[in-house]
Amino acid sequence: MPLLIPSPETLRRNPEKLPEAVAQSLALARANRHLGAFIELLDERAGVSCGEVMARIRKGEELPLAGFIIAVKDNISIKDVPLTCGSRILDHHPATFTATAVERLERAGAIVIGKTNLDEFAMGSSNENSSFGPARHPLDDTRVPGGSSGGSAVSVAAGWCHAALGSDTGGSVRQPAAFCGIVGLKPTYGRVSRYGLVAFGSSLDQISPFAHDCTSAFEVLHAMAGADSHDATSAHVKVPECEVLSLPKNKLRVGVVREFVDHEALAPSIRAASREVCDALTSAGHTLVEVSLPTAKLAIPVYYIVATAEASSNLARFDGARYGKRSADATDVNSVLELSRGIGFGPEVRRRIMMGTYVLSAGYFDAYYRTAQKVRRLIKEELQAVLAQTDVLLTPTTPSTAFRIGEKVDDPVAMYLSDIFTTPANLAGLPAVSIPWRSDESGLPIGMQLMANYFDEELLLSAGMELERLRPGV
Ligand code: GLN
Repeated sequence: MPLLIPSPETLRRNPEKLPEAVAQSLALARANRHLGAFIELLDERAGVSCGEVMARIRKGEELPLAGFIIAVKDNISIKDVPLTCGSRILDHHPATFTATAVERLERAGAIVIGKTNLDEFAMGSSNENSSFGPARHPLDDTRVPGGSSGGSAVSVAAGWCHAALGSDTGGSVRQPAAFCGIVGLKPTYGRVSRYGLVAFGSSLDQISPFAHDCTSAFEVLHAMAGADSHDATSAHVKVPECEVLSLPKNKLRVGVVREFVDHEALAPSIRAASREVCDALTSAGHTLVEVSLPTAKLAIPVYYIVATAEASSNLARFDGARYGKRSADATDVNSVLELSRGIGFGPEVRRRIMMGTYVLSAGYFDAYYRTAQKVRRLIKEELQAVLAQTDVLLTPTTPSTAFRIGEKVDDPVAMYLSDIFTTPANLAGLPAVSIPWRSDESGLPIGMQLMANYFDEELLLSAGMELERLRPGV
């Protein structure tokens, strides 16, 4: 879908147009409230940021993200703004500090217009698990936009924002990007500080950008990447000097993952699109290498053990005593915990906490959690071996295009299978991106996923740019 506000370049050249563009963006979000993209719009705050950005430009400051109007998923903190995580348990909980990623984007000149809808605590693949109601696909409002960062994907895909932040623990940025026809980049684990992102699976989570193309995804990544003393897992690895992305300098060796492009769960249109991408790459002179990742078929069970185990521990703090809404019916310590968590968390979050507690319990720890960690290691080693012989790996992003609202809500396993191609990158900590290729016969976008080596987001996105150049259109 086309951008409905002026481009960042136009706004950079004519900063006096910024207030109008911000107002336009907010008005579009309001006029399309039925799409459920935002939990809160921040008119006043956006107005203040806009004034500050204009003053800094007038003073001659070089702001790499001047002109960028963005949205932020509501599991990422912004000081004094309510932080809901799409959950009832965080009713009336204004954040006490701003996430490093948001702080860096604002320092670079970006203007945040609002907090976006998400599956509760980022657990889901459709945005139907939000206590604020679902977000809807901008091309067909009977369909899901994907999840868990559904609202952020909608805000960009519908043309109201230049970019948005989501979080990707198992595919929550790449999958909605694929469903909505935009770029979604999960950086290498540690590339972007997690400070201010409410933890779901701490060894998997990364704050991740949505954008209209690889170039702007790279600009956003560049502005927020880099070590942060508030997050010990942020990596002390140099952020690429170059701020401008270019097409690959050499022909690429593209690993085509046999198990994924031929997967039996693939919709025929996505299978056909994968073949087209391969043909287009070969015609452009790149080399395709067939590779095999036999252990990757275990990525879903491994992910749903590791992620739920970490979630059960991370969510223990929402107990109605220290954090979270307290049940009015509670009479003693135990009932504060039981009743507050019982009414505060939705069914999917409760299911995950129970699964996580189970796989960590003394009797089952070895059978589930320890085994999952061992298989996780194997998946990582397999991916590393394959990436040692190739520049990037190619897979579809999702087995299907955007499905209908309600279609999978009663079948959690079918919902979990949406993440079949995206979870390996999180388990291994590798960077991965979803690039829109074309639409299927119903006009719904198809996304292709690329993975690259650790901290090689520049090569990853330049390969993505090559796909953008070769694609027939979305
Ligand atoms: N859909 C996956 C899940 O439900 C991934 C979520 C995410 O990446 N935050 O866990």
